[in-house]
Amino acid sequence: MEAADVARVLRQHHFRMTRERRALLDLFIEADTLLTPAQLHAFAQARDVDVGLTTVYRLLEVLTKAGLASPFLLEGSIYYTFCTDHHHHHFICLNCRHVENIYGCSATVEPPPGCTVSYHRVDLFGRCARCRSDVNVTTP
Ligand SMILES: [Zn+2]
Ligand SMILES: [Zn+2]
Ligand SMILES: [Zn+2]
Repeated sequence: MEAADVARVLRQHHFRMTRERRALLDLFIEADTLLTPAQLHAFAQARDVDVGLTTVYRLLEVLTKAGLASPFLLEGSIYYTFCTDHHHHHFICLNCRHVENIYGCSATVEPPPGCTVSYHRVDLFGRCARCRSDVNVTTP
């Protein structure tokens, strides 16, 4: 999904697009790591994208409602990552918060008898290849 398409979806959800907000969206899409709203805000400030923390929260809320962001609860904080509109799962590195999408669904968990499933989430948490090799370097 192109950033322009995402902007269109946001407008449909009454999120007013400005140049700064569009820049914020681009930063979030490019991040590839889990970010808290405060971290995304700080990241934007560092790139001279002048938006308030309220706008960051609003963007993440609207994206999540539209299925274009996923929230994760880690160590008591809520982190977000941008998501495409194709069904996928996530690998999350617990060390550097890097996110990789996993396509190809192999979920085989059956619901309890009499229940129907509307959607599912399956996410894997661990150490990414780069963090694992960092460990190997420092291990005597
Ligand atoms: Zn995703
Ligand atoms: Zn990592
Ligand atoms: Zn799946």
